[in-house]
Amino acid sequence: QETIDKIAAGEVIERPSSVVKELVENALDAGANVITVEIKDGGISFIRITDNGCGIEKDQIPLAFLRHSTSKIRSVEDLLTVSSLGFRGEALSSIAAVAQVELITKPVGALMGVRYVIEGSKEKAKEEIGAPDGTTFLIRNIFYNTPARRKFLKTAQTEGSYISGLMEHMALSHPNVAFKFIANNQTKLQTSGNGNIKEIIYHIYGRDITAALMEIHGGNEEITIHGFVGKPVVTRGNRNFENYFINGRYIKSRLISKSIEDAYKNFMMLHQYPFTVLYLEMDGQLLDVNVHPAKMELRFQNGEGVYDCLRRTLEDALYHKDL
Ligand code: ADP
Ligand code: MG
Repeated sequence: QETIDKIAAGEVIERPSSVVKELVENALDAGANVITVEIKDGGISFIRITDNGCGIEKDQIPLAFLRHSTSKIRSVEDLLTVSSLGFRGEALSSIAAVAQVELITKPVGALMGVRYVIEGSKEKAKEEIGAPDGTTFLIRNIFYNTPARRKFLKTAQTEGSYISGLMEHMALSHPNVAFKFIANNQTKLQTSGNGNIKEIIYHIYGRDITAALMEIHGGNEEITIHGFVGKPVVTRGNRNFENYFINGRYIKSRLISKSIEDAYKNFMMLHQYPFTVLYLEMDGQLLDVNVHPAKMELRFQNGEGVYDCLRRTLEDALYHKDL
């Protein structure tokens, strides 16, 4: 069983950023609106995630670490809305198989919290302690028991930059959640959770980009589009500044990138790319989602329609606004 867990874990947990992604998504699922993520050494030696969500009942804790155990019912339609993609009860068991995990949790209304320790899928401690409402996960020494996997990790700096990017996308896609991200004792990102997207853009990208934003609104019967895009004066040398979220989820899509770049093409030089933070909302039925643990593939049933609508919305702003 331990071996099976380790193999399964490799599918879900590839690197420290996968741990952070799964645990932040769990915190969001638990209804948290304040989430703090702290890492050391790019998350390789230390990850701590604290939330003010619903907490886990004492007798549910060991169950939560079993494979395929989930308290969340997910239907096929659910999956297609993209709002609740996940590995259906595999995250905690996978993390516990390949790292040293300490959990402190207290449901609202419980008198005491619980501290629970599990390492390499083996329970090490379970005791009542005083704790604030919500949940804290500590993940230490990822892949400590799978040296072959640990060898595939990049430098602490690179692993940390993946987590940093992930936290930026989490903050942009959940403007009503107050996120704090601390790396090596330094606060790298802090958002207020007041819903103001421009404020989040400012925290992440700074003054120059924030000063050159155009607000975007568009859509048709199938799709709505809103967000902020950079005026052509703020070009970037790579695509990393093209952020877009479909039904609240950060994704990569060739079609969307092409639509954005085609809209900007008369305003940009070769190998220059625009800054965007775009939110596309559409009926989940119009999306095909192919979930593979390592990557997520998303296809539009009406790709041409999405391409046209987005391109036209952006061109409207680019050609009709005072740049
Ligand atoms: P899934 O998220 O697909 O249900 P996980 O392995 O990620 O599977 O989590 C297992 C279970 O542990 C969840 O269904 C949930 O009940 C509980 N859980 C995990 N993290 C938290 C959290 N931060 N707050 C409350 N409950 C949590
Ligand atoms: Mg989960």
